[in-house]
Amino acid sequence: MISAATRVAAVIGDPVRHSLSPLLHNAAYRALGLDWVYVAFEVPAGRAAAALDAAAALGLVGLSVTMPHKADAARRCDVLTPEADRLASVNTVTVLPGGRLEGDSTDGEGFLRSLREAGHDVAGGRVLVLGAGGAARAVAAACERAGAAVTITARRAGAARAAAAAIGVDHAPWDARPGLAAAAAFVVNATPVGMSVPGTPLPPDSLGAGQVYVELIYHPAETAMMAAAAAGGAQVVGGLGMLVHQAALQVERWTGLAAPLGPMREAAARALAAR
Ligand code: NAP
Repeated sequence: MISAATRVAAVIGDPVRHSLSPLLHNAAYRALGLDWVYVAFEVPAGRAAAALDAAAALGLVGLSVTMPHKADAARRCDVLTPEADRLASVNTVTVLPGGRLEGDSTDGEGFLRSLREAGHDVAGGRVLVLGAGGAARAVAAACERAGAAVTITARRAGAARAAAAAIGVDHAPWDARPGLAAAAAFVVNATPVGMSVPGTPLPPDSLGAGQVYVELIYHPAETAMMAAAAAGGAQVVGGLGMLVHQAALQVERWTGLAAPLGPMREAAARALAAR
């Protein structure tokens, strides 16, 4: 029951209508017995700073930030965590006492937690990241911080070079990816190939035993590349774990409580199965 005491958190983005964040967060707040609610605000490009100011003025708990606002939100926050500062990107805004705004980026740590949950540790291993967008940068930075040797490759050489330089990791030509994949312990798909773009981001027979293929796509639950990698003997990790863990880190930051991962995962999986 929403009352005058109910605390409010929200996601801002455009588009935002299909976001799973409200389901994930509200499942968490329910499981934790909190009088909190999480809603979605469709905020057009260029209005992120105004939305962050409004969140502070209204006393919101915090905001999740998605496309196209992550860089603008980083510029507006009063203080950034080292991760958000390194990426110049914020997916989590916490309204601090007094209304100051703290920006964090939980995608990279969410990625590492999802791998750990699946029994994998990137430390000391070679990681090949396919793509050079926001998710690729977050994953590459987190893996580098965790002690992996990271290479970014993307179809536009300049984008791969810029992403690698910003984070301090290697980059390689897109055409070299089958050979690089064969030599990697972990291959991470941070492109939409397999979701909105049909096909596989690598030749299907690129991966085999002793390797881990990590898909950031969470819908479909199994992409063509996941099926091909598994058929070749590789272990596969889907994108749902990262989605759940990046939200769980927000829940933990805002509530100070351990996130209820089971109810959050169930809420997301139920919604995805119905799509
Ligand atoms: P983004 O910033 O748009 O970056 C996408 C990257 O993929 C860019 O490097 C882009 O290259 C490349 N790309 C696009 N189409 C391609 C194609 N046909 N062939 C090769 N490369 C292509 O997107 P993002 O936010 O980083 O997200 C990337 C993926 O990760 C998406 O599938 C998204 O759903 C997923 N994701 C999952 C989670 C999770 O929690 N599981 C979180 C964030 C993102 P160009 O610049 O040349 O277009």
